[in-house]
Amino acid sequence: MVTITCDICKKKMDNPINDRTFFRYAETSICEPCKDNLELNVRTQIRGKDPFTIDWYEKMMKDACGKACQKGKV
Ligand SMILES: [Zn+2]
Repeated sequence: MVTITCDICKKKMDNPINDRTFFRYAETSICEPCKDNLELNVRTQIRGKDPFTIDWYEKMMKDACGKACQKGKV
């Protein structure tokens, strides 16, 4: 069985690959709840962003993910 630790909340996920409950973001592995929180967080920041570009969005997600990993929470 494969166990992956979420880089943000440090929760261990058993067999996340079969269950598809983990996500890869910019060299980190994060669990489903952390991914949801991260997206929610970023979503509030992309509102009103003009012009909006995918590059900017990806950088934004990467930064948010990096910060969340440092803090240990989203
Ligand atoms: Zn997590």
